[in-house]
Amino acid sequence: MSDSDSPSELDPPDLNYRCGFAAIVGRPNVGKSTLLNALLGQKISIVSPKPQTTRHRILGILTNEAAQIVFVDTPGLHTSGKRAMNRHMNRAALTSLSDADVNLFVIEALRWLDDDQRVLDELTQRGLPIVLLVNKVDQVHPKERLLPFLEEIGKKAAFADVGLISGLKRKHIDELPALIAKYLPQSPPHFPADQVTDRSEQFQASEIIREKLTWRLRQELPYGVTVGIERFVEDDGRLLINAVIWVERSGQKAIVIGNAGEQLKEIGRSARLEMNEAFRRPVHLELWVKVKENWSDNDLALKQLGYE
Ligand code: GDP
Ligand code: MG
Repeated sequence: MSDSDSPSELDPPDLNYRCGFAAIVGRPNVGKSTLLNALLGQKISIVSPKPQTTRHRILGILTNEAAQIVFVDTPGLHTSGKRAMNRHMNRAALTSLSDADVNLFVIEALRWLDDDQRVLDELTQRGLPIVLLVNKVDQVHPKERLLPFLEEIGKKAAFADVGLISGLKRKHIDELPALIAKYLPQSPPHFPADQVTDRSEQFQASEIIREKLTWRLRQELPYGVTVGIERFVEDDGRLLINAVIWVERSGQKAIVIGNAGEQLKEIGRSARLEMNEAFRRPVHLELWVKVKENWSDNDLALKQLGYE
């Protein structure tokens, strides 16, 4: 490689470049994960119609010529639930709020619940700029119905900016990076330009399986279900992955496996197809279902499953 191929010391650093953290915050189910995926143009964070799907703090990294925005997708703040898992989720959400340069407060168009107010109270205490993102505007007809709603919400806090968006339909998503970058400090990028997440492929594999489970089982999905990766090895250009779906009771095991193993087979098939795409090499996936009693109320078990 010749010297001219690499950024040389002779190139002046771009002093106008911006880089920083934007937390995506809001009550469960407003569409935070969908928004993150739309912004990044690929699936980083799993989405489901069931609230509380996001358990981890996830970084999605968007890099363009003007800025690098590091998005933090938070588990929805919520007050219900006293189990160890709920405490973990709230802690993770609160930490990412204070680390950010700007908070993206996501709400649903024409819906303001007590939990939205609670999130806003947390945000205003931090004194960081808050960008209000009114999501799911695709559901509003005619659009004029938004005006009185926006006027009401506008009285609740001094928002730095307001965006009317649809993460699902990708409406006004492309304008967001420039809008958000205004609130980031001038800084060179923190991550390489081609990196989209700080999460390992192993972690992404478990998220993909968890998403397929959520979509397949819907209402039947046992509350305590989680996924552990037992083996993740490269083999001659292929990935060999063994994963365990942990449930809390043997009755739940039967639900996940389904009649003659059909359910589990379909979950494995769709997960494998998505992994082939995501990891850009063929994946061989083996799935087991095992019972671990009451893990979601057990701090030690949570640690063993990777929730710090
Ligand atoms: P989160 O809990 O805030 O991360 O929400 P998710 O991203 O998991 O989305 C929750 C539900 O809302 C899913 O069923 C999404 O498909 C749906 N959703 C998200 N964004 C939109 C949107 O812009 N329009 C509509 N109509 N639905 C959306
Ligand atoms: Mg989410």
